[in-house]
Amino acid sequence: MNLYLASGNAHKAAEMNALALASQLALSIVSAKAVGGMPPVVEDSGTFVGNARKKARALHAILPPGSWVLADDSGLCVDALGGAPGVESAYYAGPAGDGAANLRKLVDVMAAVPPAQRGAHFVCALLVIGPDGTEAVFEGRCEGVLGEAPKGGTGFGYDPLFLPNGYSESFAQLGDAVKNELSHRGRAWTQLATWMKACLVGSLN
Ligand code: IMP
Repeated sequence: MNLYLASGNAHKAAEMNALALASQLALSIVSAKAVGGMPPVVEDSGTFVGNARKKARALHAILPPGSWVLADDSGLCVDALGGAPGVESAYYAGPAGDGAANLRKLVDVMAAVPPAQRGAHFVCALLVIGPDGTEAVFEGRCEGVLGEAPKGGTGFGYDPLFLPNGYSESFAQLGDAVKNELSHRGRAWTQLATWMKACLVGSLN
């Protein structure tokens, strides 16, 4: 079964594919690119769930009726910055959405913040639209602290700066498998997978 992903972010698609495989769901995550690209969406709802809903509905509107659609809206909330960049995570350093520039800006902004005040958490809102138009929301959160300098070579976005609680290495050092176990996206996906398995069993009865 195809689950169309309302995102142009190749890293998110790769993580979703790994999560789908690990949860033994017979799903192919199909990027919006494969159906002509993601329609433009203004992410102005002010919430992760609201933005995920806008993305999912925009893609759903251009797909054949009865399609399954998934949207992810996610970001990093930093305690010392009052929760910023939050829903603005993708555009922290400007409208170009440059992940490396976003990371550099966060390193600079946090440079004088002492270790005890470097708490942060990632949030992920997943919104699924089912074949009958039903919408379901799943949210995951991962707590941690920000390092002083980026470390590691895997993942994307702020991964090199984020050390999940209980670990002394960043997401980008821990690697994809560990990240998927602990991450905001992995936690939201676990709930989605339980829900989707129940839906698929129900549709066979
Ligand atoms: P969105 O595509 O509007 O949901 O914005 C997501 C942004 O949040 C990304 O561009 C990253 O800056 C950040 N982000 C979300 N999830 C992650 C993650 O798993 N690792 C690192 N950065 C993330």
